[in-house]
Amino acid sequence: MTPDALKQLVRTVPDFPQEGIQFRDITTLIGHGEGLASSIHLLAQMARAKGAQKIAGMEARGFIFGAAVAVQLGVGFVPVRKPGKLPVETIGVDYDLEYGTDRLEIDPGAIGSGERVVIVDDLIATGGTALASSQLLRQAGAEVSDALFVIDLPDLGGADLLRGAGVEVGVLMQFDGE
Ligand code: AMP
Repeated sequence: MTPDALKQLVRTVPDFPQEGIQFRDITTLIGHGEGLASSIHLLAQMARAKGAQKIAGMEARGFIFGAAVAVQLGVGFVPVRKPGKLPVETIGVDYDLEYGTDRLEIDPGAIGSGERVVIVDDLIATGGTALASSQLLRQAGAEVSDALFVIDLPDLGGADLLRGAGVEVGVLMQFDGE
């Protein structure tokens, strides 16, 4: 399927989780067998071209796409987790959300020094989550030059934020607005 056809499979839910937000719901995309397979295939092609030695995905929707891409490439998957979930000593980073802060954690032993890690997530909005993840992965010794997303919301400037931090951005589709 083409990216344009995949875009038709994303459901837009107005005013979720709060008024004014157009929630771009990938549930309908991953519930469509061919849509899911094509999304993974296209992301995997991009990740392969970037020379990914490992894929990192953010909890929770990044696990769905990231792990499947890693399988296609035959490389390992690094889960970037919400706090308190990993059973080992972690490294973490606090980052700002629109309201309040959040934290992400990884197992530093999951990454070899200089390993080329490509980030995969469902959607980039402000880029805060992906930027924090790239900082954390770099702290663990990874080389992070690329991040791939199913959906970009360009009006929120996330891709520009990542590029400013030396992370190139690849996406399958874009939606206007928040
Ligand atoms: P951000 O850190 O602002 O780039 O937000 C990234 C995460 O927030 C993504 O992984 C999405 O899961 C979620 N998100 C933010 N905005 C939306 C939206 N309009 N529709 C669906 N998910 C969103």
